Amino acid sequence: MDILFLGTGSAWRLPEYSCRCMICQKMTELKEERTRTSIQVTTSRKILIDPGPDLLFHMRRYKLQAPDLILITHEHGDHYLGMDDLLAYKRSMPPDSWRPIPVYATETAWETIGVRFGYLLGSLFEKRVSEPGVDINIDDTSITPFKTVHGKTARGSVGYVIRETQKDKKVKKLVYTSDFIDVETDLSILHDPDVLIIQSHWLNEPVENRPSHMSLQRALDFIKKWRPSKRMFLVHISGGDQVPGDPFNNTVKKTPPIRPMMDPLTQKPYSVPMCQQDWDNLAVKLCEDNSLSCQMTVPKDGETFTF
Ligand SMILES: [Zn+2]
Ligand SMILES: [Zn+2]
Repeated sequence: MDILFLGTGSAWRLPEYSCRCMICQKMTELKEERTRTSIQVTTSRKILIDPGPDLLFHMRRYKLQAPDLILITHEHGDHYLGMDDLLAYKRSMPPDSWRPIPVYATETAWETIGVRFGYLLGSLFEKRVSEPGVDINIDDTSITPFKTVHGKTARGSVGYVIRETQKDKKVKKLVYTSDFIDVETDLSILHDPDVLIIQSHWLNEPVENRPSHMSLQRALDFIKKWRPSKRMFLVHISGGDQVPGDPFNNTVKKTPPIRPMMDPLTQKPYSVPMCQQDWDNLAVKLCEDNSLSCQMTVPKDGETFTF
Protein backbone atom coordinates (compact mmCIF):
# COMPACT_ATOMS: atom_id res chain seq x y z
CA MET A 1 0.00 0.00 0.00
CA ASP A 2 1.40 3.41 -0.98
CA ILE A 3 0.45 6.62 0.76
CA LEU A 4 1.09 10.05 -0.73
CA PHE A 5 0.43 13.01 1.55
CA LEU A 6 -0.91 15.61 -0.86
CA GLY A 7 -1.48 18.14 1.91
CA THR A 8 -0.96 18.13 5.68
CA GLY A 9 -2.39 21.43 6.92
CA SER A 10 -5.68 22.57 8.40
CA ALA A 11 -8.62 24.30 6.70
CA TRP A 12 -6.76 27.55 5.96
CA ARG A 13 -3.32 26.19 4.92
CA LEU A 14 -0.17 27.14 6.78
CA PRO A 15 1.17 29.76 6.89
CA GLU A 16 -2.27 31.37 7.02
CA TYR A 17 -2.95 34.33 4.78
CA SER A 18 -2.71 37.64 6.69
CA CYS A 19 -1.63 35.90 9.93
CA ARG A 20 1.42 37.42 11.63
CA CYS A 21 1.75 34.91 14.48
CA MET A 22 5.19 33.53 15.24
CA ILE A 23 4.40 30.13 13.69
CA CYS A 24 3.22 31.63 10.39
CA GLN A 25 6.18 34.03 10.33
CA LYS A 26 8.70 31.29 10.95
CA MET A 27 7.20 29.07 8.24
CA THR A 28 7.21 31.98 5.79
CA GLU A 29 10.89 32.66 6.54
CA LEU A 30 11.75 29.00 5.95
CA LYS A 31 9.47 28.79 2.86
CA GLU A 32 7.55 25.92 4.47
CA GLU A 33 3.94 25.32 3.54
CA ARG A 34 1.15 22.92 4.45
CA THR A 35 -1.76 22.77 2.03
CA ARG A 36 -5.18 21.42 3.05
CA THR A 37 -4.99 17.82 4.31
CA SER A 38 -5.67 15.22 1.62
CA ILE A 39 -4.07 11.88 0.78
CA GLN A 40 -3.83 9.43 -2.07
CA VAL A 41 -3.73 5.75 -1.13
CA THR A 42 -2.74 3.25 -3.79
CA THR A 43 -3.55 -0.44 -3.54
CA SER A 44 -4.59 -2.09 -6.78
CA ARG A 45 -6.77 1.05 -7.04
CA LYS A 46 -6.01 4.74 -6.68
CA ILE A 47 -8.05 6.09 -3.80
CA LEU A 48 -8.27 9.84 -3.23
CA ILE A 49 -9.33 10.90 0.25
CA ASP A 50 -10.83 14.39 0.66
CA PRO A 51 -10.58 16.36 -2.61
CA GLY A 52 -10.25 19.72 -0.89
CA PRO A 53 -9.81 23.24 -2.32
CA ASP A 54 -6.13 22.57 -3.09
CA LEU A 55 -6.93 19.65 -5.40
CA LEU A 56 -5.94 21.30 -8.70
CA PHE A 57 -2.67 22.43 -7.10
CA HIS A 58 -2.12 18.84 -5.89
CA MET A 59 -2.97 17.38 -9.33
CA ARG A 60 -0.38 19.62 -10.97
CA ARG A 61 2.33 19.33 -8.31
CA TYR A 62 2.17 15.53 -8.01
CA LYS A 63 1.09 14.82 -11.63
CA LEU A 64 -1.87 12.83 -10.33
CA GLN A 65 -3.83 10.50 -12.56
CA ALA A 66 -7.61 10.28 -12.24
CA PRO A 67 -8.55 8.39 -9.06
CA ASP A 68 -10.51 5.12 -9.26
CA LEU A 69 -12.61 6.18 -6.31
CA ILE A 70 -12.96 9.04 -3.88
CA LEU A 71 -13.64 8.92 -0.14
CA ILE A 72 -14.95 12.04 1.57
CA THR A 73 -14.73 12.16 5.35
CA HIS A 74 -17.18 15.00 6.02
CA GLU A 75 -19.02 18.03 4.74
CA HIS A 76 -16.57 20.81 5.74
CA GLY A 77 -15.30 22.79 2.75
CA ASP A 78 -11.61 21.94 3.25
CA HIS A 79 -12.48 18.27 2.60
CA TYR A 80 -14.44 18.37 -0.67
CA LEU A 81 -14.48 21.78 -2.37
CA GLY A 82 -12.02 20.83 -5.12
CA MET A 83 -14.28 18.21 -6.69
CA ASP A 84 -15.07 20.00 -9.93
CA ASP A 85 -11.36 20.28 -10.79
CA LEU A 86 -11.57 16.57 -11.62
CA LEU A 87 -13.45 17.64 -14.76
CA ALA A 88 -9.97 18.23 -16.25
CA TYR A 89 -9.62 14.45 -16.69
CA LYS A 90 -12.96 14.06 -18.45
CA ARG A 91 -12.45 17.12 -20.65
CA SER A 92 -9.21 15.71 -22.06
CA MET A 93 -10.80 12.39 -23.15
CA PRO A 94 -12.81 11.61 -26.29
CA PRO A 95 -16.59 11.97 -25.87
CA ASP A 96 -18.40 8.95 -24.37
CA SER A 97 -15.21 7.35 -23.02
CA TRP A 98 -15.46 8.66 -19.45
CA ARG A 99 -16.70 6.43 -16.64
CA PRO A 100 -18.01 8.46 -13.68
CA ILE A 101 -15.83 8.20 -10.55
CA PRO A 102 -17.58 6.65 -7.53
CA VAL A 103 -17.58 9.13 -4.64
CA TYR A 104 -18.32 7.88 -1.14
CA ALA A 105 -19.64 10.05 1.70
CA THR A 106 -22.31 9.50 4.34
CA GLU A 107 -25.92 10.36 3.48
CA THR A 108 -25.70 13.27 5.96
CA ALA A 109 -22.54 14.61 4.31
CA TRP A 110 -24.18 14.24 0.87
CA GLU A 111 -26.98 16.59 2.01
CA THR A 112 -24.34 19.36 1.92
CA ILE A 113 -22.06 18.08 -0.85
CA GLY A 114 -25.00 17.31 -3.15
CA VAL A 115 -26.23 20.93 -2.96
CA ARG A 116 -22.84 22.18 -4.13
CA PHE A 117 -21.90 19.51 -6.69
CA GLY A 118 -25.22 17.88 -7.60
CA TYR A 119 -24.81 19.11 -11.20
CA LEU A 120 -21.82 16.77 -11.63
CA LEU A 121 -23.56 13.64 -10.38
CA GLY A 122 -24.18 11.03 -13.04
CA SER A 123 -21.71 12.69 -15.43
CA LEU A 124 -18.41 13.26 -13.63
CA PHE A 125 -19.25 11.36 -10.44
CA GLU A 126 -21.43 8.60 -9.16
CA LYS A 127 -22.98 9.10 -5.74
CA ARG A 128 -22.18 6.26 -3.32
CA VAL A 129 -23.10 6.16 0.36
CA SER A 130 -20.59 5.41 3.13
CA GLU A 131 -22.38 3.54 5.89
CA PRO A 132 -20.44 3.10 9.10
CA GLY A 133 -19.55 -0.56 9.58
CA VAL A 134 -20.49 -1.57 6.02
CA ASP A 135 -17.50 -2.66 3.92
CA ILE A 136 -16.81 -1.32 0.46
CA ASN A 137 -15.05 -4.17 -1.37
CA ILE A 138 -13.02 -3.74 -4.54
CA ASP A 139 -10.77 -6.65 -5.57
CA ASP A 140 -8.09 -7.00 -2.89
CA THR A 141 -9.10 -3.80 -1.09
CA SER A 142 -11.73 -3.44 1.58
CA ILE A 143 -12.73 -0.05 3.01
CA THR A 144 -14.74 0.29 6.21
CA PRO A 145 -16.18 3.66 7.24
CA PHE A 146 -16.40 4.27 11.00
CA LYS A 147 -18.41 6.99 12.73
CA THR A 148 -16.43 9.87 14.19
CA VAL A 149 -17.56 12.78 16.35
CA HIS A 150 -16.67 16.16 14.82
CA GLY A 151 -19.25 18.55 16.24
CA LYS A 152 -22.64 19.91 15.24
CA THR A 153 -21.53 21.29 11.87
CA ALA A 154 -20.18 17.95 10.61
CA ARG A 155 -22.74 15.38 11.69
CA GLY A 156 -21.88 13.25 8.65
CA SER A 157 -18.23 12.72 9.62
CA VAL A 158 -16.54 9.33 9.27
CA GLY A 159 -13.03 7.94 9.17
CA TYR A 160 -11.96 5.01 6.99
CA VAL A 161 -10.13 1.74 7.61
CA ILE A 162 -8.45 0.53 4.42
CA ARG A 163 -7.30 -3.08 4.25
CA GLU A 164 -5.38 -4.68 1.42
CA THR A 165 -5.10 -8.47 1.21
CA GLN A 166 -1.86 -9.61 -0.37
CA LYS A 167 -1.28 -12.75 -2.42
CA ASP A 168 0.04 -14.56 0.68
CA LYS A 169 -3.27 -13.61 2.44
CA LYS A 170 -1.52 -11.22 4.81
CA VAL A 171 -3.56 -8.06 5.38
CA LYS A 172 -2.17 -4.53 5.48
CA LYS A 173 -4.25 -2.07 7.44
CA LEU A 174 -4.43 1.71 7.44
CA VAL A 175 -6.67 3.69 9.83
CA TYR A 176 -7.45 7.24 8.66
CA THR A 177 -9.35 9.37 11.17
CA SER A 178 -9.70 12.80 9.53
CA ASP A 179 -11.13 15.62 11.70
CA PHE A 180 -12.60 14.31 14.96
CA ILE A 181 -12.67 14.66 18.70
CA ASP A 182 -13.85 11.13 19.49
CA VAL A 183 -15.30 7.96 17.97
CA GLU A 184 -18.86 6.86 18.70
CA THR A 185 -17.76 3.29 19.39
CA ASP A 186 -14.24 1.99 19.93
CA LEU A 187 -14.47 -0.77 17.33
CA SER A 188 -11.95 -3.61 17.28
CA ILE A 189 -11.24 -2.83 13.62
CA LEU A 190 -9.50 0.38 14.76
CA HIS A 191 -6.99 -1.54 16.86
CA ASP A 192 -3.56 -2.72 15.75
CA PRO A 193 -3.28 -1.06 12.34
CA ASP A 194 0.02 -1.08 10.49
CA VAL A 195 -0.36 2.64 9.94
CA LEU A 196 -2.46 5.24 11.75
CA ILE A 197 -3.01 8.70 10.25
CA ILE A 198 -4.51 10.87 12.97
CA GLN A 199 -5.47 14.51 13.23
CA SER A 200 -3.28 16.79 15.36
CA HIS A 201 -4.92 20.20 15.14
CA TRP A 202 -3.11 21.54 18.23
CA LEU A 203 -0.17 20.33 20.29
CA ASN A 204 -2.04 20.83 23.58
CA GLU A 205 -5.74 20.42 24.25
CA PRO A 206 -7.14 23.98 24.22
CA VAL A 207 -9.37 25.52 26.87
CA GLU A 208 -12.05 25.90 24.23
CA ASN A 209 -12.19 23.10 21.65
CA ARG A 210 -14.55 25.10 19.44
CA PRO A 211 -14.61 23.13 16.21
CA SER A 212 -14.29 19.70 17.91
CA HIS A 213 -10.83 18.83 16.64
CA MET A 214 -8.16 16.45 17.94
CA SER A 215 -5.10 17.77 19.77
CA LEU A 216 -1.89 15.74 19.91
CA GLN A 217 -2.29 15.66 23.70
CA ARG A 218 -5.67 13.95 23.30
CA ALA A 219 -4.48 11.87 20.32
CA LEU A 220 -1.89 10.13 22.53
CA ASP A 221 -4.74 8.27 24.28
CA PHE A 222 -6.00 6.95 20.94
CA ILE A 223 -2.47 6.07 19.81
CA LYS A 224 -1.86 4.08 23.02
CA LYS A 225 -5.22 2.31 22.67
CA TRP A 226 -5.04 1.54 18.94
CA ARG A 227 -1.28 0.67 18.87
CA PRO A 228 -0.13 1.25 15.29
CA SER A 229 2.83 -1.03 14.55
CA LYS A 230 4.69 0.43 11.56
CA ARG A 231 4.13 4.19 11.65
CA MET A 232 1.82 6.92 12.90
CA PHE A 233 1.39 10.17 11.04
CA LEU A 234 0.01 13.44 12.41
CA VAL A 235 -1.85 15.67 9.94
CA HIS A 236 -4.24 18.68 9.74
CA ILE A 237 -1.67 20.86 11.54
CA SER A 238 -3.13 24.30 12.35
CA GLY A 239 -0.71 26.61 14.15
CA GLY A 240 -3.48 27.32 16.67
CA ASP A 241 -1.34 26.81 19.80
CA GLN A 242 -0.21 29.94 21.64
CA VAL A 243 3.56 30.42 21.58
CA PRO A 244 4.79 32.12 24.78
CA GLY A 245 5.63 35.77 24.07
CA ASP A 246 3.79 35.93 20.74
CA PRO A 247 1.95 39.30 20.47
CA PHE A 248 -0.61 37.59 18.20
CA ASN A 249 -1.72 35.10 20.83
CA ASN A 250 -4.88 37.21 21.12
CA THR A 251 -6.12 36.36 17.61
CA VAL A 252 -9.18 34.20 16.91
CA LYS A 253 -7.12 31.19 15.79
CA LYS A 254 -5.19 30.97 19.08
CA THR A 255 -6.47 29.32 22.23
CA PRO A 256 -4.61 28.76 25.49
CA PRO A 257 -4.00 25.18 26.64
CA ILE A 258 -5.96 23.64 29.52
CA ARG A 259 -2.95 21.89 30.99
CA PRO A 260 0.00 21.77 28.58
CA MET A 261 1.97 18.56 28.23
CA MET A 262 5.11 18.67 30.34
CA ASP A 263 8.59 17.52 29.45
CA PRO A 264 9.36 15.01 32.24
CA LEU A 265 13.03 16.03 32.26
CA THR A 266 12.66 19.78 32.65
CA GLN A 267 9.16 19.80 34.20
CA LYS A 268 8.35 22.61 31.76
CA PRO A 269 5.79 22.53 28.92
CA TYR A 270 7.11 21.18 25.62
CA SER A 271 7.99 24.00 23.23
CA VAL A 272 5.25 24.58 20.68
CA PRO A 273 6.63 23.41 17.31
CA MET A 274 6.87 26.19 14.75
CA CYS A 275 8.51 24.48 11.77
CA GLN A 276 9.25 21.04 10.34
CA GLN A 277 12.49 20.62 12.28
CA ASP A 278 10.67 21.40 15.56
CA TRP A 279 7.99 18.81 14.73
CA ASP A 280 10.63 16.19 13.83
CA ASN A 281 12.41 16.73 17.16
CA LEU A 282 9.20 16.76 19.19
CA ALA A 283 7.93 13.55 17.56
CA VAL A 284 11.06 11.66 18.66
CA LYS A 285 10.88 13.09 22.18
CA LEU A 286 7.17 12.36 22.62
CA CYS A 287 7.69 8.73 21.60
CA GLU A 288 10.51 8.38 24.14
CA ASP A 289 8.62 10.13 26.93
CA ASN A 290 5.48 8.04 26.35
CA SER A 291 7.33 4.75 25.71
CA LEU A 292 5.80 4.43 22.25
CA SER A 293 7.65 1.87 20.16
CA CYS A 294 6.12 2.98 16.85
CA GLN A 295 7.74 5.90 15.02
CA MET A 296 5.73 9.13 14.98
CA THR A 297 6.04 11.34 11.90
CA VAL A 298 4.65 14.76 11.03
CA PRO A 299 4.83 14.39 7.25
CA LYS A 300 5.70 17.22 4.89
CA ASP A 301 3.44 17.87 1.92
CA GLY A 302 4.52 15.40 -0.78
CA GLU A 303 5.90 12.81 1.64
CA THR A 304 5.30 9.16 0.75
CA PHE A 305 5.18 5.94 2.73
CA THR A 306 4.97 2.38 1.49
CA PHE A 307 4.21 -0.65 3.65
ZN1 LIG B 1 -10.69 19.92 8.23
ZN1 LIG C 1 -13.76 19.48 9.67
